[in-house]
Parts: sequence; C-alpha cells; structure tokens
Amino acid sequence: MLNIVLFGPPGAGKGTQSERLITKYGLVHLSTGDIFRANIGGQTELGILAKSFMDKGALVPDEVTINMLQNEVNKQADAKGFIFDGFPRTNAQAQALDDFLATKNTSIALMVALDVEENELKQRLMKRAEVSGRADDANPEVIQNRIQVYKNETAPVKAYYEAQDKFVSINGLGDIDQISERLYEAIDAVVS
Ligand code: AMP
Repeated sequence: MLNIVLFGPPGAGKGTQSERLITKYGLVHLSTGDIFRANIGGQTELGILAKSFMDKGALVPDEVTINMLQNEVNKQADAKGFIFDGFPRTNAQAQALDDFLATKNTSIALMVALDVEENELKQRLMKRAEVSGRADDANPEVIQNRIQVYKNETAPVKAYYEAQDKFVSINGLGDIDQISERLYEAIDAVVS
C-alpha cells in the first residue's frame, strides 16, 4: 500500500493536487473536509455537529474526526493506498492514524507539504469562495481563524512526521502542473 499525507494550510491547493495524485498513483482520496461537507449536505447527525465547528473555522473534535476517518478507510477494502487530505490536523490524529494503519499492517510513507505564504492563501480563499459556495471561504474573519488554527494546532504535525523522517515540503506557488511535477518527484523518491 502507498499512503501519503498531503499537508498544508487552507488554500494551499491540497484538493486540486489530490485529484492529480489519485490518478497518477491509483489511490483513494480521503478529504475529511469533503466528507464533513457531504454529511452537512445530507443533514446527518455528524454533519450538524461538524457544521457548528466548521462555520467558525475551528477544528471538529479529534474523537469524532478520527472515528469518521477510520470508517471511511474501512469502506475501501480494495484500496491500493490513500491520499489523506486535511487529515491529520493534530498530533493526536497523527498518532491515531499510525496506530490504526498498523492494525492493517501498513503505514504512512510520506507527508508532503505545500508551502504557500499567508497573503497568497487569503487571496486564493477569497477567490475560491466565488465558486466553492463555502461559507468558511467567504468570511475574512473565518479565514483568519482557520489560518490561526492551522498555525497553532496543525503546523506541529510536521514535527511528528519529521521525527519519523517522513516529511518533505515543496513550493506550492506557480503553475498547477509544475506543482504536480514537484509532488511526483517527492513521492517517487520514496516509492521507488
Ligand atoms: P478543509 O476542507 O480541509 O478546508 O476543512 C474544512 C473544515 O472542516 C475545517 O476548517 C475544519 O472545521 C473541518 N475539518 C476538516 N478536516 C478536519 C480534521 N482533520 N480535524 C478537524 N477538523 C477538520
């Protein structure tokens, strides 16, 4: 199995690049944000709970997020591997993911971060709001909060994978194809 964590702040391009990676490597894309939004759309209990956090730009509690992620992985018995997009976002989630994958005799091969500076992120998110219809993209205060939450709670996850010698960062600026090429290079270096 090939399991990759695609890492980076909101607006770094994780969703766009995940689409490329699943095609190139034949992996299953698991975006916790997308799964929460699908639950909000379906007005499930999980969706109603998640929405109350997402609308503020806060993280959904670890226990809820971890359980949901594990259920989604378990639905994909035939997967050759996964692109985890937007997960793990806390060290507790990273630890839970390692423990869970170990029960399946697999592990994370690499965390690849998309490096994009803050002003560019804000501009991208405001622009994305015009097409995404996401309330959390449209409100500057919520965007600021998401970036702050990223810095406080999510950025430390980098050190978790660095300690395992599994972290690499690439430049997330420029042409979408160029960024994909940088990602392929980083992934191929560990795969082959
Ligand atoms: P995203 O689509 O990745 O930008 O996520 C949108 C929102 O969903 C985030 O701002 C959080 O409120 C929530 N969310 C997504 N993934 C996670 C996660 N791994 N842990 C906690 N909350 C999450």
